[in-house]
Amino acid sequence: MPTVGIVGGGILGTTLALRLAQAGLDVELIERAPSLGGLADRTQLGGYDIDRFYHVIVPSDERMHALVDELGLAGEMSNAPVGVGFFIDGKMYPFNGIGDFLKFPPLSFLNRVRLAQFVVACQLRSKYDDLEDTPLIDWLQKLSGKKVTDRIWKPLLASRFDGNYGDLPATYLWSRTRRMKSARSGKGGAEEFGALRGGHQRLIEAAAEAAQAAGAKVSTGVPVTGLLMEDGEVRGITTEDGERRYDLVIPTLQPPALKFLLPPELQPLLDAYPQRYLGVVCLILLVKESLTEHYSVNICDPTPITTIVETSHVVGTDHTGGNRLVYVPRYCDASSETFGLTDQEVYDRFTEMVAKLSPALTPENVIDWTVQRAPTVEPFHAKGVHPREAPRWPKGAAGAPIKGLALASAAQIYPRLLNGESVVQLAEEVAVDVAGRLGAPSPVPVPATTGGAPA
Ligand SMILES: Cc1cc2nc3c(=O)[nH]c(=O)nc-3n(C[C@H](O)[C@H](O)[C@H](O)COP(=O)(O)OP(=O)(O)OC[C@H]3O[C@@H](n4cnc5c(N)ncnc54)[C@H](O)[C@@H]3O)c2cc1C
Repeated sequence: MPTVGIVGGGILGTTLALRLAQAGLDVELIERAPSLGGLADRTQLGGYDIDRFYHVIVPSDERMHALVDELGLAGEMSNAPVGVGFFIDGKMYPFNGIGDFLKFPPLSFLNRVRLAQFVVACQLRSKYDDLEDTPLIDWLQKLSGKKVTDRIWKPLLASRFDGNYGDLPATYLWSRTRRMKSARSGKGGAEEFGALRGGHQRLIEAAAEAAQAAGAKVSTGVPVTGLLMEDGEVRGITTEDGERRYDLVIPTLQPPALKFLLPPELQPLLDAYPQRYLGVVCLILLVKESLTEHYSVNICDPTPITTIVETSHVVGTDHTGGNRLVYVPRYCDASSETFGLTDQEVYDRFTEMVAKLSPALTPENVIDWTVQRAPTVEPFHAKGVHPREAPRWPKGAAGAPIKGLALASAAQIYPRLLNGESVVQLAEEVAVDVAGRLGAPSPVPVPATTGGAPA
């Protein structure tokens, strides 16, 4: 059977390795870090193993639930209704379902109606083509009015996109609003989230074990330094210890990491991808007492953080000795001032804001804290860039496909948002495609697609 080298052991690379091994291909998964997981890896805090970033599975995450079942982890899922808060004008308001919405004090009745009008318009719309060239802010002002846009949407967008969101197309909020609708359990319109005991990392480990049982080789602690090129074809990869040869190489890295693997003649491949990427700086607090009754908080006042997420509302406290976990992320460009802050500066700046949201944040309440950073989390899909999806089978300068290379990365997912569900779906689509081209049987039933629309 042909040999396939997959670079990157996050959810994408590991699911791809599993599916291609199940198809009978001779697969090796190569990960730079000592453990698999990437953004879904674990870290340690206060002596406990915890998620490096917060991860939930929503009820409509079909492929994630299917993978959880297939790997025998269904009994490890916990589900909980979660609450969302809104912090605006120095006050916190619950925002869970129609009851809270109808009496949401920061907006007048008329503006509440206009906000509802926007949400309903997103949910009723199944196509997004004509939103692609519509500036998001224009669309928001048209549907929900200037007051709601200025008071609610602009602050939320500013903290989510590091102050720079003017180039977003209307598609972004359409896609996001539809995903959040799919998280609603129905009862009073509140959201329900699920999480795996041990985090997403648990799923990745189980997928890697299943891939190995199906014949795949998994190599961790091996940074790939480049693609091995011969006669204009990709014949394998290079590492610090030499070269490894494969019939097909599939890097699963997003472009800011992929660029270090591409030889000069293949650098133009990066032009087909978005040009801006957001990273994240995330303070994690281990506290004795809950900071907020809400799972997450939308912040509409000026803020150095994007949100706060108290994951213990979903993941429980069994694995943290009864203590609670609160994640405080700021999405930002890797070149931003925030990304360059020291851990102590992050702690000081972020907790000053958290203290405004929660009187329970006192020095005595904090048991331990850590700061996690990732320079590349997701692409910024600016308005007017077409096509949206960089090719899976890239072509060289002569216009012919580059033999031995397929590209699969989260930067090719659009307009769905980036999360485990869309990444697993991409991995499975790529696996079917690759197996077909290499003459192997199809590894998974092709999932019914929604024409690219989010669930
Ligand atoms: C703060 C935050 C919250 C999130 N919340 C959720 C959530 O609630 N639910 C959800 O489903 N998703 C969530 N996500 C998204 C989810 O984590 C990602 O979509 C998913 O983990 C991306 O997987 P990936 O395999 O594409 O990329 P990555 O996880 O980035 O994997 C890429 C891998 O490639 C490796 N690599 C890089 N360079 C090399 C090299 N040269 N050689 C070898 N290996 C290399 C990296 O070490 C890494 O392991 C969240 C993400 C963040 C940051």
